[in-house]
Amino acid sequence: MTLAAGRPYVAIPGPTVVPDRVLAAMHRPSPNIYEGELHEMYPGILRDLRAVVGSTTAHVAVYIANGHGAWEAVSSNVFSRGDKALSAITGHFGQTWAVSLRGLGIEVDALDFGRGRSIDPDQIGRALEQDTAHTIRAVLMTHTDTATTVRNDIAAVRAAIDRARHPALLLVDGIASVACEEIRFDQWDVDVLIGASQKGLMMPPGLSFVWFSDKAKDVSEKADLVTPYWNWRTRCFSPEFYRAFAGTAPAQQLYGLREALALITEEGVDAVVARHQTLARAVWAAVDAWGTGGGEIGLNVTDPAARSHAVTSIRIGNGGAARLRRWAEDNAGLTLGIGLGMALPTEPAHHDHLRLAHMGYVNAHMTLGALAVMQAGLLALDIPHGSGAIEQAAAVIADATRR
Ligand SMILES: *Cc1c(COP(=O)(O)O)cnc(C)c1O
Repeated sequence: MTLAAGRPYVAIPGPTVVPDRVLAAMHRPSPNIYEGELHEMYPGILRDLRAVVGSTTAHVAVYIANGHGAWEAVSSNVFSRGDKALSAITGHFGQTWAVSLRGLGIEVDALDFGRGRSIDPDQIGRALEQDTAHTIRAVLMTHTDTATTVRNDIAAVRAAIDRARHPALLLVDGIASVACEEIRFDQWDVDVLIGASQKGLMMPPGLSFVWFSDKAKDVSEKADLVTPYWNWRTRCFSPEFYRAFAGTAPAQQLYGLREALALITEEGVDAVVARHQTLARAVWAAVDAWGTGGGEIGLNVTDPAARSHAVTSIRIGNGGAARLRRWAEDNAGLTLGIGLGMALPTEPAHHDHLRLAHMGYVNAHMTLGALAVMQAGLLALDIPHGSGAIEQAAAVIADATRR
């Protein structure tokens, strides 16, 4: 017998669940790419992309690339040869972003805050104050580092840059937070924000998005790393639609994206954020209850204010995380995310973390179902855990509907 037959649920932090409406919207023959509907609908897509990040002013470049590609897109527009970046790292993705910059010949000063703590803005401020010659072109931060599931405070980092009276641009990797967390591009004075289609935006992988400010645009006028393909000025400011993608537009993807953005607009951006926050609290409540059982179960990020609302890293010691992942997929059709960058593959702790995503097109029954499957797995595998986890998670959901 298997209990895994039925609709599988891949609860990993990207690619996330793609709504049927989005799949249906993409299922169409290739349109005319020279004129017509594709051209006419693109301004609406850009308008909705601005709305998702609380902006009325940002320029938006869309790339046929995953998040790693968007990192290079941004670097090539912002940096010149010999430039320096200050990188605030709170996990694997911050580290990898720095690797991407170094590969382009950009010097990176890294401030590493570990695997479970958020960025300390004062340290950013001090590093900038020491840079009296203003050789640092930009400060890099991930909003949510999807590996550790640490969430950082964008406004606080901007305030630290301003206090230091430093002209550095603020570049934010929002790949795991766009359409999941509150983002105020204009209000928080972000210069560059990066997103990707396969996370909160509920699309298949393959598109990425770069929102940028006028200040970033000005810097890009002088940056000398840029190549014609990545150039965001041609993409955003050419009258011909063909240039928006530096070649053939990703036609079917744009139809899907339009539908995904319509789903977000119908629900309301604030309601989307509130849903993610509530589902996250349900997950945290369950894990806290499991953690009272004398076993080795707990949330990776102890400070609730530094936790992602879209994905949660959970520690289950003695290799329990890896065993539970295997069990959930084989026995219940639930795929949980691997632990990423929490320990070296050679260390025993490598098998002690998993991630449960509650990102994008996810509702209460999906998250409660995932938690109940994990509960069953803990029982089946004889992993010591506290009781009452599902009751606690259900209480969070019930409370949220009473308000
Ligand atoms: C997923 C992710 C990336 C990498 O995106 P890819 O599309 O896999 O290249 C980068 N940064 C963050 C924060 C992510 O969550």
